[in-house]
Amino acid sequence: MSDLEEFDVVVVGAGPAGMSAALYATRFGLKTIIYEKGLVGGQIATTDAIENYPGFKEVGGMELVNKMKEQVEHQGAKISYKEVINFKEFQGKVKVNLNDSEVIAKTLIFTGGSFPRKLGVLGEKEFENKGIHYCALCDGPFYKGREVAVIGGGDSALKEAIPLARMTKKVYIIHRRDEFRSKDAWARKIKEILNIEVILNTEVKEFKGDKFLEKLVLYNNKTKKTSELAVSGSFTYIGHIPGTKNFDFKKNENGYIIVDENKETSIRNVFAAGDCVAGSLAQIATSVGEGVTAATKAFARIEGEI
Ligand code: NAP
Repeated sequence: MSDLEEFDVVVVGAGPAGMSAALYATRFGLKTIIYEKGLVGGQIATTDAIENYPGFKEVGGMELVNKMKEQVEHQGAKISYKEVINFKEFQGKVKVNLNDSEVIAKTLIFTGGSFPRKLGVLGEKEFENKGIHYCALCDGPFYKGREVAVIGGGDSALKEAIPLARMTKKVYIIHRRDEFRSKDAWARKIKEILNIEVILNTEVKEFKGDKFLEKLVLYNNKTKKTSELAVSGSFTYIGHIPGTKNFDFKKNENGYIIVDENKETSIRNVFAAGDCVAGSLAQIATSVGEGVTAATKAFARIEGEI
């Protein structure tokens, strides 16, 4: 056998799914470590205010992250700021390659998250969380009585425009082609909603404002004309990039991990939870729940129950 350090549970990623998985694993009495290559918290660490996580009327993203971190460390899990490069089955366990060493895990819970794709245009970084958002459910309510844009023409853009239209005064859907990618019922539904206006053949070239977003610079690729559109908020839905690129589990065509009913991936003893999993709702509350399920199943595997 190997003389490498061995853990019952190695958690990859310290977002809500990873921290709740580690919380449950430590409370099951399992030797648990979380590896995080960047900042604790994942996407919520960059979210200003969260109003849809049960138990908090409103909580700052960083505040919630810090509470989760404090709790998981208090229960005995260790957070180590190292990058997991890859992992593979090894003598009935999992060998984990880190940037500077290797460890052995009886089970591994992968919570690599996913990241909204960005346009890569001027002002996008400057106005992030100051008008530019990536989650209508989380941030739409801040724009009550104001006009907002949704950028994209896929299922996510059209689906999210519908609740946004209820929350705000008006929604402009801005799509770069003359027809939507989405062929679902949402394309029909948005036509019936009076405060949604569709702007086709149009690309967003720049976000402008002072302290907060005030307008979008638009380019019509048919007429070749540039114009400006005044909006207080803008929601980009041009796809997500799951944090799964370097890992070899079975994935769907978009790179999201396919898991079975135990949240186990195609690699034995490797479980997955949160936004990187196919079919995930990508909400903090659902990620937390998936993390708990993955930890419970990892415990059951160690106990020989599954
Ligand atoms: P998507 O289907 O890949 O659509 C992305 C949209 O963004 C497309 O309209 C694309 O334009 C546009 N886009 C991409 N890059 C762009 C850029 N640089 N500038 C401007 N526009 C850009 O992504 P998604 O809507 O997030 O959906 C991802 C997957 O999840 C899809 O398979 C979708 O069906 C699925 N989904 C399912 C549900 C559900 O409830 N069933 C809900 C949401 C998503 P083009 O069309 O011109 O390429």
